Amino acid sequence: MLDQIKGLHHVTSMASDARQNNDFFTRKLGQRRVKKTVNFDAPDVYHLYYGDEAGTPGSVMTYFPFPHIGKGRHGVGEVGTTVYSVPEGTLGYWEKRFVDEGVTGLLREETFGDRRLAFAGPDGDGFALVEDKADTRAPWAKGGIPADEAIRGFHSVSLRLKDGGATEELLKFMGYEEIDKSGTIRRLAVKNGNGADVIDIESLPTAPFADLGAGSVHHVAFAVEDRARQLEVRKALIDTGYGVTPVIDRDYFWAIYFRTPGGVLFEVATNEPGFDRDEDTAHLGEALKLPMQHQHLRPYLEQHLQKLEG
Ligand code: ZN
Repeated sequence: MLDQIKGLHHVTSMASDARQNNDFFTRKLGQRRVKKTVNFDAPDVYHLYYGDEAGTPGSVMTYFPFPHIGKGRHGVGEVGTTVYSVPEGTLGYWEKRFVDEGVTGLLREETFGDRRLAFAGPDGDGFALVEDKADTRAPWAKGGIPADEAIRGFHSVSLRLKDGGATEELLKFMGYEEIDKSGTIRRLAVKNGNGADVIDIESLPTAPFADLGAGSVHHVAFAVEDRARQLEVRKALIDTGYGVTPVIDRDYFWAIYFRTPGGVLFEVATNEPGFDRDEDTAHLGEALKLPMQHQHLRPYLEQHLQKLEG
């Protein structure tokens, strides 16, 4: 069993409209935009990152807004719900805020003994807030949400799978342990993680497969401290039979990707070098940042990418 993985690093999804997406995460959820760059593999599209003050791994939601892309269809073989952690007793604040802001899909739930508020993202993305009294992470407090109520980072993601068995085995190999179960959902967690420590696996044998589109999660990334530990994880996965990509430089972290048995794309990303690599923490996310290979596109991109608030 591996011990290099320390919880989630980021979750990356598809969106239909950059401005709407930016408004939802920075204003409605009070997250900080920590990076405004482009999709390194499709540079005419933004890659927007939202998280806490520094974009700490375990807090970072990222989007590829493809203008006018069709909506995804939720199903199995994907991340069903991305769950943020908020302080105990704050769901009333959030519910009122969401009603006032016209956020849809609101549903109060209780899962594994915790109070939760499900809500839909800007393209119908599956999200929830959960009250987690044990979470000690500091929130981004300058996003318009009082520090006592603000989001702490991710709590978990839930994987919706036809048959969760093989993915559960994989997660156990990656260092996760089953800590609870409820109906068809198995809850796994990693010890000594960064706070975003939980993965729920829901098995839905008769549900249709998901179609990727706006509002779909593209991949979920797990955090390792550095490149040395990433190479250890890569070797262990390859030795176990997984087809893993080479290490790819994403400027703010190094990434490897592999497809899991249940169909979800996993990434393992390093905590180094971080989002302050090319701009001061005080000004994260303000300027359009381009990787070296796309610098020559700057005049075109500055003219053609949608202008964003903030
Ligand atoms: Zn990623």
